[in-house]
Amino acid sequence: MLKNWVVVPTCLPLVLRRCHACASGHFRASGKFRVNANHKLIDAWLLALCTACGETTKLTVLERMNVRSVRPELLDRLHDNDPGLTAELLQDPAVRRRNRIALDWDNAWRLDIGGTDHLDRELIREVIDVSVRFAARIPVRPVRLIAEGCGLSRAEVERLVTEGKLVSAARLSGKLSGDFTFMLKR
Ligand SMILES: [Zn+2]
Repeated sequence: MLKNWVVVPTCLPLVLRRCHACASGHFRASGKFRVNANHKLIDAWLLALCTACGETTKLTVLERMNVRSVRPELLDRLHDNDPGLTAELLQDPAVRRRNRIALDWDNAWRLDIGGTDHLDRELIREVIDVSVRFAARIPVRPVRLIAEGCGLSRAEVERLVTEGKLVSAARLSGKLSGDFTFMLKR
């Protein structure tokens, strides 16, 4: 039996960056952009606010780009403070690298297993193949995902792995942020 699970974002992740005004290390994207056009060159930033003191920080989106080399559609979305654009930019590894930021996805995602909260016990008696798809590259512990999706404890999942009853081509220890499959036989 094949099941499809999806890891879906439920809100924007927090931005990990040290605040210069206070000791906090978390910023929340404001959803607003600042665009500065100077002759033919354009700069654009995504504004984020410190979760502790409200201080603003700027995340570079465009840096001294020739206006004509920027897609008009992107310019429109920047000027309109397009809410979807914030999510897209935060998930863009190039934007994260340029700004030297990482994301905190805690409490910003859920596991959708289609229907009930977790697989029922009857089903788990059979062999099941599960394909896990990531709607966004959210780093999560596969053991935690499998425990939640199967309605098991993490210790039970780890025991199934040790006993060879839960197998995957992916490394199940540590974190994953890309699609993987696993097979559970009991
Ligand atoms: Zn602060």
